[in-house]
Amino acid sequence: MLSALTSHFQSSTLGALSRQFSTQMPLSRSEILKCIGDKPISEDKALFERANDVTKSVYGNKVFLRGIIEFSNHCAKNCNYCGIRRDHPDPERYEMSQDDILETIKWAHEKRYAGILLQSGEVGTQDRVDFVADTLKKARKLTGDKVRYILSLGELTDDQYYQLLQAGADRYLLRMETSNPALYAKLHPQDGHHDWLKRLNCVKSLVGMGYQVATGVMTGLPGQTKDDLADDIEMFNELGIDMIGLGPYIPQVKTPTADAWMAERGRDSIELTADDKAKMLLDTIRMLATIRLCNPDVNIAATTALQALKDDGREWALESGANVVMPILTPKTFRAEYQLYQNKPCIDDSASECMGCMDRRVRSIGKTLCFGELGDPKHFTDRIKKV
Ligand code: SF4
Repeated sequence: MLSALTSHFQSSTLGALSRQFSTQMPLSRSEILKCIGDKPISEDKALFERANDVTKSVYGNKVFLRGIIEFSNHCAKNCNYCGIRRDHPDPERYEMSQDDILETIKWAHEKRYAGILLQSGEVGTQDRVDFVADTLKKARKLTGDKVRYILSLGELTDDQYYQLLQAGADRYLLRMETSNPALYAKLHPQDGHHDWLKRLNCVKSLVGMGYQVATGVMTGLPGQTKDDLADDIEMFNELGIDMIGLGPYIPQVKTPTADAWMAERGRDSIELTADDKAKMLLDTIRMLATIRLCNPDVNIAATTALQALKDDGREWALESGANVVMPILTPKTFRAEYQLYQNKPCIDDSASECMGCMDRRVRSIGKTLCFGELGDPKHFTDRIKKV
């Protein structure tokens, strides 16, 4: 896998730039496989504690806060696992107006959110990019440099990424979903619009352009192996990623990947059993802790999906290597229509309720939610110094 990735990198000058920043892997391949594999509970506990210690050595007890505004669920893509894919019949499609987005940003700024993520389905038109760029410029006037703006808009051209950077974006989240091109092909229709290599090149462009770059993968995908997951970890290091988000694959109704998930288990329902949830959560936390050991200075998110598996799933992640939480700020009226996966939590909560809940959860494990703190990953500040 790594040699395949490396040959892709060698075909690009941006690849050379990202490779320059990648660090030596602190763990060998066999150590990574051991960490993410099944083992006695005492060894898992030691792994999680070690990951927490490494996190504390770089970030102390701080947990950084980013608010997510899901401003549109329109999507031109048709990823096989996704609840808002183009052909999914259920979601009522919406677009928040610019005024509503700016109003939500103003509220978040007043509540001392220092990171705001603008997220939507993938619509790569120039009109959409111009709209986001204009919104960013107006948002900057409201908040000055007290907020880092993160975008998650999918694959765009280099010119469009640069336009958004110039308009005020600081960070970009583009999830690879898997480092395995063959697995990626199974997760996406072969219609010429879902190309793993194109996505990889987008991530490399973003790293080379000066964005703080986040990516992520899913664990527990149908057909995924432990070697795939070990490759994912090596991919993060190869790419020079600054922030990593890791989510368990949770089947969503009326999607092709959910059908594959059921077939793999010989079931006719996507309902998760208690054993399913426990295994999915444990596998994801093992992966998260291992990522922390391999990447001491990146930011790692405790994603909302973990809470879908266990009420305190996010707290467990924060005690095992994660140092970022991302409550949803999307107005309540739209939340139910942005369900990428089944039983997404917080759908019925207001932004205010989410914030209070998150603060309580973080305090309950003896950590501090950092209001008003930008929370740049040390990995990024160090790599920028080297340029
Ligand atoms: S995963 Fe993203 S790009 Fe794919 S269908 Fe869902 S919203 Fe669209």
